[in-house]
Amino acid sequence: MILTITLMFALIGVIMGSFCNAWAYRLLRGESIAKGRSKCPHCHHQLAWYDNIPLLSYILLWGKCRYCKKPISAQYPLVELASGLLFAGLYLFFIPATNLQWLMLILWCLLSVFLITSFITDWLELILPDNYMVPAIVVSLLIALLASYTSGQGFVWNVLFGRILQAGIFVAIYCALYFGSKGKFIGDGDIRLAAVLGLALALPQLLVAVFATYVIGAAIGSFCIISKLKTRKDVIAFGPFLIIGLYIGLFWGEQIARWYLHLF
Ligand SMILES: [Zn+2]
Repeated sequence: MILTITLMFALIGVIMGSFCNAWAYRLLRGESIAKGRSKCPHCHHQLAWYDNIPLLSYILLWGKCRYCKKPISAQYPLVELASGLLFAGLYLFFIPATNLQWLMLILWCLLSVFLITSFITDWLELILPDNYMVPAIVVSLLIALLASYTSGQGFVWNVLFGRILQAGIFVAIYCALYFGSKGKFIGDGDIRLAAVLGLALALPQLLVAVFATYVIGAAIGSFCIISKLKTRKDVIAFGPFLIIGLYIGLFWGEQIARWYLHLF
């Protein structure tokens, strides 16, 4: 049973990943997500439904457009695959038994759609649009409210206050970094992401998430400079590291924090 539902979530994740790709693509070009079929970015030929099946079409077409034979960006299958793994991982992390636990899982899936899309726009164009950030903050607040409700008997106000306080501190630190560096260290979108992390995660998860963000950021940043993909002067988007950090904090934060405290 668990295996079947996990596979279902993986499938939903792959489809959502495909939606996020299309949404990010259209937002960056000022097009509406609701209007018209997808087109090849090179030859602008309208894609048939069978050219547009997540993951499968990329494999069947050998990564090339059916009409102009130009390569399709590896971003599309990679995002779809990652979303599939993420959604399956979310299900396996929560394995909900009660209605409220199902609601928590659904909120995390919803949050993930906004985060995957903003991951793409930040990676490609260094922007974290409010179209994704505002709903992401709202969903994170709902997650904090639900966590306050499910963490004890009835509604535990301290949990909610804790989440709002930690989000406030995190946002204040990022505001100081942003204004102090005149936007060189981080962008204003990262301040909004800080609010998402602070609201959606419990404290041990948040601390691990922030730590993981900087380890991954430093590792990928140095890799890009050493391999000459980027120079020291290039701006590397910070949002994707925060988003990866968020999921590391969610999935493994409690364990890592407990392991760390056992060292002393
Ligand atoms: Zn084409």
